[in-house]
Amino acid sequence: PTIVDRLSAPHHGPVPFSVEFFPPKDAEAEARLWRAVRTFERLGPAFVSMTYGAGGSTRDRTVRITGELAAQTTLLPVAHLTAVNHSVDELRALVGAYADQGITNLLALRGDPPGNPLGEWIKHPDGVEYAEDLVRLIRELGDFHVGVASFPEGHHRAPDLEHDTRALVNKLRAGAEYSITQMFFDVEHYLRLRDRLVAADPEQGAKPLIPGLMPITSLATVRRMAELSGSVIPDDVQQRFAVAAGDGPQENREAVRAVGIDFATEMAQRLVAEGVPCLHFCSLNFAKATSEVLERLGVDVRSAMPAATATPAS
Ligand code: FAD
Repeated sequence: PTIVDRLSAPHHGPVPFSVEFFPPKDAEAEARLWRAVRTFERLGPAFVSMTYGAGGSTRDRTVRITGELAAQTTLLPVAHLTAVNHSVDELRALVGAYADQGITNLLALRGDPPGNPLGEWIKHPDGVEYAEDLVRLIRELGDFHVGVASFPEGHHRAPDLEHDTRALVNKLRAGAEYSITQMFFDVEHYLRLRDRLVAADPEQGAKPLIPGLMPITSLATVRRMAELSGSVIPDDVQQRFAVAAGDGPQENREAVRAVGIDFATEMAQRLVAEGVPCLHFCSLNFAKATSEVLERLGVDVRSAMPAATATPAS
């Protein structure tokens, strides 16, 4: 099945949801990932996606684990792949390795320079320049279904939002069937991107624009967010986290987490009311926070789980 098929299939709760994982770095992290995978499996996501790192070993792990998700679970995996440090021949081989494992849903990304996401982008001498070129390459290789990234606040390299919207339109015209947004913390940014996209090209604007969400569970995440994703947390929301943390020497972690779950739920409810096609959760390989948000949205988390493991594992 394709992602677009899955978004129109029956689902628990008010809207389909999907989950993003990243490749674990050691055996312990891998065990944790699998606990989260098994919990999510019972909640019925429309699809799950696995990010693609910069170095050789993490890349190999992405390919292996995405294959295991396809072979050993009921989940529909989407493999991210990037153009960083890859020649076109290597990209072809990578797409072939996915196809061999039955994976035909790919998220085509340019990626960032390794070590410094804001550093100068240097194309591989035999590689591709833009994600748009990668979409074309993958489409030429066979019957693949491709998604791309979108940026509610604009991509950090784009001179302005119009330029960035055009880049997204071009990726969709090149054959991408949907996009998943960079995570954001102000629903207005998503809605404005949707308006820009529809105005720029109504046909491409009709393709699913899947919002990326991340429940914030600690102040450290609040602080790191802008630097990790370039996404701005509005001042009033930062204030809610600061009040919850308290002014004692120790941050009130439970209160911060509760605000994070409340805030993610409020955002998700507003997005559902705005008619989004899916909610994409960056899980950081944990199931608990996302499950809590889903439960608050009306996904019947308990009945989706066998009695013996009614509490999410992590
Ligand atoms: P592009 O679409 O190629 O855009 C890059 C820049 O070029 C933008 O500024 C754009 O406006 C501009 N541009 C595009 N086309 C043109 C053109 N024809 N002419 C002029 N300018 C143009 N990174 C990873 O390393 N691994 C991952 O797994 C990963 N997963 C991600 C998942 C999601 C949902 C998102 C939102 C991002 C993800 N990223 C990942 C990060 C992503 O690789 C970076 O944000 C990267 O800088 C941009 O990638 P892109 O595919 O949007 O690039």
